[in-house]
Amino acid sequence: MSEHYKTLIVGGGITGCCAAYYAMKQEGVEHIRLLECGDTLGGTAQTEHIDGVTCEKGPNGFLDKEPKTLQWVEDLGLGERLVRANPLAARRFIFRNGTLHELKPPPAFLFGGPLSLQGRLRLCAEPLIPQRVSPEEESIWDFAARRIGAEAADTLVAPMVSGIYGGDARQLDLASCFPKMAAMEAEHGGLFKAMRAKAKDKPAGKGTAMGPGGTLTSFEGGMATLMTRAGEVLGDSVRLNTPVTQISKDDSGYRINTADGTPFTADRVIVAAPTHAACGMVRELDGPLASALEAIPYTSMAVVCTTYKRADVGHDLNGFGFLVPRTQNKRILGCIWTSTLFPGRAPEGQVLLRTMIGGATDPGAVDASDEDLLQTLRDDLFPILAIKADPVMHRVYRWGKAIPQYTFGHQDRVAAVEAGEKRNPGLHFAGNAYRGVGLNDCVVSALRAVETSG
Ligand SMILES: Cc1cc2nc3c(=O)[nH]c(=O)nc-3n(C[C@H](O)[C@H](O)[C@H](O)COP(=O)(O)OP(=O)(O)OC[C@H]3O[C@@H](n4cnc5c(N)ncnc54)[C@H](O)[C@@H]3O)c2cc1C
Repeated sequence: MSEHYKTLIVGGGITGCCAAYYAMKQEGVEHIRLLECGDTLGGTAQTEHIDGVTCEKGPNGFLDKEPKTLQWVEDLGLGERLVRANPLAARRFIFRNGTLHELKPPPAFLFGGPLSLQGRLRLCAEPLIPQRVSPEEESIWDFAARRIGAEAADTLVAPMVSGIYGGDARQLDLASCFPKMAAMEAEHGGLFKAMRAKAKDKPAGKGTAMGPGGTLTSFEGGMATLMTRAGEVLGDSVRLNTPVTQISKDDSGYRINTADGTPFTADRVIVAAPTHAACGMVRELDGPLASALEAIPYTSMAVVCTTYKRADVGHDLNGFGFLVPRTQNKRILGCIWTSTLFPGRAPEGQVLLRTMIGGATDPGAVDASDEDLLQTLRDDLFPILAIKADPVMHRVYRWGKAIPQYTFGHQDRVAAVEAGEKRNPGLHFAGNAYRGVGLNDCVVSALRAVETSG
């Protein structure tokens, strides 16, 4: 005899927990079930506490610009435990030609920074570039090179893409990754024109000129605070260590098979597992749906958290951190100055840094040993930040399939997943693989699944 639920959620990352929470509000806790294959909730959102150090294995936090995320946080009773990043986080840097350059808004931008004079002049010519009118997909790099010049594409845009997606700007589809940027050209004819139009509507003091809108936000105790609280509220409706193997349909609705043999049935299923796992679950149910899910690629990433004695780091670390263009012959993608962003995450007298290595342009990095990755830090990071001694502590977090990549054809794949949802009423897919990889996107995706099917 199988257990029957109104809603069954597969996967207990941010998306699955958020979907489970709102399905619970809709239907009552006894009518929902969340199945997670791992022994903890959170998916990539995991925090490790080691001797006074708070290491984020995945996301650092989220931007406080999505009301739905803030509402979920309030609903969970965590509003008081939110922590906004230090205002110094507005200072962001790019490493180029042996030094860190601060990204400054115009007019200061015109008098220095990471671009050559020629590069800056080319960027300033953006309003003169004609609007592209073509139905063909365009890579992020091609778009940037066309509008603001190849130097800015390499130096400013490609590192941002590796910072968000771990991706290669030449491989990723602009309209899928940055739909707002594509719309700026489509609706206003160019980026400067669109920014000028939007500046009129923007309330003063929101966001930073050179960073994304919103303030990076986390919790006392890190992202684990969110996942722990979600787990407490969901209570017995969560079942850990329960990999879902197959989803099929019968007279009682959906039948969900698990690796330990426990069968479940449900009126609706929200699949919030990564697509590389979800595809196998639905292969027999709907082949074209499984193929569309399977075709979404992921990139790998190694996150190296290190602490140093403050006296051993020559740089002031007054900022968010820096990104490294691939043109600079360094292996590290960038480094976040965590103990500046969130003071108190390293013991007194120490600093905590988080360095990213890998991504689409260096897929082998995730398999490198801890010692090899530390050597990469000595070679790449130490000279940039004038670090004189090895870390006091280090932790390496490896994500084999870290972040989905919205490569060419992504919109067709998402459309094929949606067509699969229509063929199978009550079956929904949510998460970072479809319309945005940020935590806010995951919350929006979870709510869409719950609300469109409730
Ligand atoms: C290194 C890194 C840094 C990041 N930094 C940021 C950041 O600073 N800000 C930001 O907004 N975003 C960031 N992101 C992105 C963001 O963390 C993710 O997009 C988001 O956490 C994904 O949540 P999810 O629930 O959709 O997927 P996941 O976290 O992948 O969760 C999916 C869950 O499904 C489970 N599962 C898999 N297979 C099965 C199965 N067969 N049965 C049951 N369960 C299954 C998994 O165990 C997992 O718990 C970062 C990502 C990474 C990797």
